[in-house]
Amino acid sequence: MSVSQSTQDESIEGQFNSETRRIRVAEVPRRHLRSVTGMMGFQFALGRKDAIKVLCVGAHSDDIEIGCGGTILRLLSEYADVEVHWVVLGSEGERDLEAAASAERFLAGSKMREIIIENFKNGFFPYRGEEIKGFFEKLKERTAPDVVFTHYRDDLHQDHRVTSELTWNTFRDHLILEYEIMKYDGDLGTPNLFVPLTREICEKKVDVLMDCFNSQREKDWFTRDAFMALLRIRGIEARAPGKYAEGFYCRKGVL
Ligand SMILES: [Zn+2]
Repeated sequence: MSVSQSTQDESIEGQFNSETRRIRVAEVPRRHLRSVTGMMGFQFALGRKDAIKVLCVGAHSDDIEIGCGGTILRLLSEYADVEVHWVVLGSEGERDLEAAASAERFLAGSKMREIIIENFKNGFFPYRGEEIKGFFEKLKERTAPDVVFTHYRDDLHQDHRVTSELTWNTFRDHLILEYEIMKYDGDLGTPNLFVPLTREICEKKVDVLMDCFNSQREKDWFTRDAFMALLRIRGIEARAPGKYAEGFYCRKGVL
């Protein structure tokens, strides 16, 4: 396990994709026109020289993968220098091993990674708030992330909600993107930021989920078609050239 200490403390500022704007329409195949002439995009690190520092926080062992696994795979495929802190708060028994194996596969291309798996009791996060808050305070000293991925603020699972609240409470000068987790309770909303993905990346994300989380395979929502369906729906909403996307809630951004 490696640990990175950084003194840098700045949010990623969304930057206009000027490269995209300079492309002459006549040079672009028609099938791509929408992606280059449509909505102006953001990039994580336009012209950036140093590492992109990413913090992923999940309440349970498969949450990060489900919520933002495709985005992490895309980041790692596009940027050589990415540092990832991957934090699972509530894991236990065989799920510890599943979480570690899955994180290693998702982060295989990262230059630096730290995987932290805690054992806060599932379903009881609201009742262990002080303890979990203490953990977040220590986490803040380990990393100064450019971007933080965490749970959706209005998620109906209490553990997810507490995780989101403590993320915001702890990282107060950072770009935070909230990911979504589909569930029986029916709390999917309308994301306002999308990360377009290729089918290949989506397949890889779902492959790792299905390979690594045997303990979840009996759950009716933990299926390949369910994961791909949500990715496809968000791809429609994003007008993603590759048809797929992950959706996020971005409450604050700086241009
Ligand atoms: Zn969860």
